[in-house]
Amino acid sequence: MPELPEVEVTRLGLHPEVIGQCVTGFTVRQAILRWPVPCDIAPYLQGMQISATRRRGKYLLLELSRDAAIQGWLIFHLGMSGTLRIVQTDEPASVHDHVDLHLGVISVRLRDPRRFGAVLWHPFADGPIDQHRLFAKLGVEPLSAEFAGEQGAQHLYLGSRGRTVAIKQILLAGHVVVGVGNIYASESLFHARIHPLAQAGRIGLQRYRRLAQAIRETLLMAINRGGSSLRDFVASDGASGYFQLDCMVYGREHQPCRVCDAVIKQVRIGLRSSFFCPRCQHV
Ligand SMILES: [Zn+2]
Repeated sequence: MPELPEVEVTRLGLHPEVIGQCVTGFTVRQAILRWPVPCDIAPYLQGMQISATRRRGKYLLLELSRDAAIQGWLIFHLGMSGTLRIVQTDEPASVHDHVDLHLGVISVRLRDPRRFGAVLWHPFADGPIDQHRLFAKLGVEPLSAEFAGEQGAQHLYLGSRGRTVAIKQILLAGHVVVGVGNIYASESLFHARIHPLAQAGRIGLQRYRRLAQAIRETLLMAINRGGSSLRDFVASDGASGYFQLDCMVYGREHQPCRVCDAVIKQVRIGLRSSFFCPRCQHV
């Protein structure tokens, strides 16, 4: 499943190709994705220019303008299996290529075999994009200045006071900090030496300092790794897939901890598998 790093690398890959380009068409072959794709906006988008690319959580946004005035945002979500790639506009679509945004000779193409992805349009007239119903309740961006250094630690600390649920669930819920999926939550907790079942409200500021730093470093490492194959990521036929990480704990049940040699364990938390080292990580 594409996580924040894949979405960010997709954005980084698309950006130089699409910025300043004008929309020449919008083709919807399959409108039934997670939510219906607005098929009727094609004539309206015609001639608009892509003036910015953004990411919010796992949503990728293309800002569209006309005569330097923002008209709205195309919102993409990759769901469980989606990819957004640059293709030649005349390249035939395969069975899972559901939506194309045409930009002259190139197109941005959404391929989504499982159809949990989304393509939505939010017109400027409907208000600021940050207040969109999908974004209003999202936590802070882990790679933003608001989550850097001591601010990140304070944010986790204050956001978890009085909470009795496991820290792993706080991370996955995305209301405190957004975009920390299952793999990155497991890995970050390992690096911070915090047990995934630790009660969020009982974790002190010092441990949250380690966790905030670990979250940023884990995500940035994945983005940097993805960046090295960025060209493939947005331009290939999808064979490169999602990032392969050298995980410390995720997916390593029964294997020895890379730090202390203890056997990595797995526990189910909120229906998701969590992996941890019983010696390195503490509740
Ligand atoms: Zn260990």
